[in-house]
Amino acid sequence: MSEAVEARAAAVAERFTELYGAEPEGVWAAPGRVNLIGEHTDYNDGFVMPFALPHTAVAAVARRTDGVLRLHSADIEGGAVELTLDALAPESDRNWTAYPAGVVWALREAGHTAITGADVHLTSTVPTGAGLSSSAALEVVVALALNDLYELGLKGWQLARLCQRAENVYVGAPTGIMDQTASACCEAGHALFLDTRDLSQKQIPFDLAAEGMRLLVVDTQVKHAHSDGEYGKRRAGCEKGAALLGVDALRDVPYAGLDAALAGLGDEEEVRRLVRHIVTENERVERVVSLLEAGDTRAIGPVLVEGHASLRDDFRISCPELDLVVDTALAAGAVGARMTGGGFGGSAIVLVEAADEETVTKAVADAFAAAGYTAPRVFAAVPAPGARRLV
Ligand code: ADP
Ligand code: MG
Repeated sequence: MSEAVEARAAAVAERFTELYGAEPEGVWAAPGRVNLIGEHTDYNDGFVMPFALPHTAVAAVARRTDGVLRLHSADIEGGAVELTLDALAPESDRNWTAYPAGVVWALREAGHTAITGADVHLTSTVPTGAGLSSSAALEVVVALALNDLYELGLKGWQLARLCQRAENVYVGAPTGIMDQTASACCEAGHALFLDTRDLSQKQIPFDLAAEGMRLLVVDTQVKHAHSDGEYGKRRAGCEKGAALLGVDALRDVPYAGLDAALAGLGDEEEVRRLVRHIVTENERVERVVSLLEAGDTRAIGPVLVEGHASLRDDFRISCPELDLVVDTALAAGAVGARMTGGGFGGSAIVLVEAADEETVTKAVADAFAAAGYTAPRVFAAVPAPGARRLV
């Protein structure tokens, strides 16, 4: 455990004791994530490849026996919010508390009625709304704490499913399974190759430091207002494509059969573009897996660039800020770059030789200043461990 996380765990435990007047039973951490490749494939039963960030949500938790859930975030103004377990109901809460409360609701709904309450105090270093999944970090840290304390015996992928249900049904946000699985199951120095159909997974070595490379996360700090509606439209378009092609999900369209599938879509031009993105994106994930397994990290650069073009031109979810990051970084010598996450803002990733990190970072900052955009936040991401107990 790094000193930084150790110090945070101690501070979170101390604050818990001040707030609730008793010591926590333990302290847990769950990370945010960045997706290396495999965008919008997770609701098409396809492949994704996230890795965990060193940024984490840290929670101190203790059980209660009286059916009460108390929630407090150091990052939100105000005191602890007190909820009654029996009164938890989907879409009843529009505040941050819906994420942890939704997890408790989903666990109890799934039959884990041994859960009789909890006191939770948490804080997170995952930036919110930057496409780095601060929401999944929040859900998973609470799920893991309750799994341990109430000895539920659930595995990481099972916790991920319940956290996804919390977000989909309780919070009311239609997200895929990638974020929660990444937070629950990633390992340090690896990217997680995840088949979102059956949640089978494989840890793929992705040790950038050993290769003399860096992966920069560039948070554009923009979120275009229509992003939620556009997500729903893409999702519906993909479902329409699957229906027209007579498959359960676009995952079932083989890459080798793509041309025939596209030809079979008649004059459905928009659906054709969506189908082409999903089918080629799944192939790109498989290519990145092969390259990394062969130790050829630099060769994934052009695959990331292809992925960006597909998201920009076929899936049409990029935006001027994300395109500017990618174009500028590549022109300044980056090995690869693409937008990551849902699109219409959020973050891009840039793969660079360590020696080029400064030049590329400066080029992007200068380009943003010249365009009159808010300065982006840039950090180098090292594949970090997934959710775990700290104390
Ligand atoms: P993302 O997951 O991409 O960061 P979301 O909109 O899915 O963005 O989730 C962000 C929401 O998660 C915040 O608006 C807030 O409700 C909740 N959240 C994230 N981090 C914290 C935190 N440290 N304390 C309280 N709520 C948080
Ligand atoms: Mg989220």
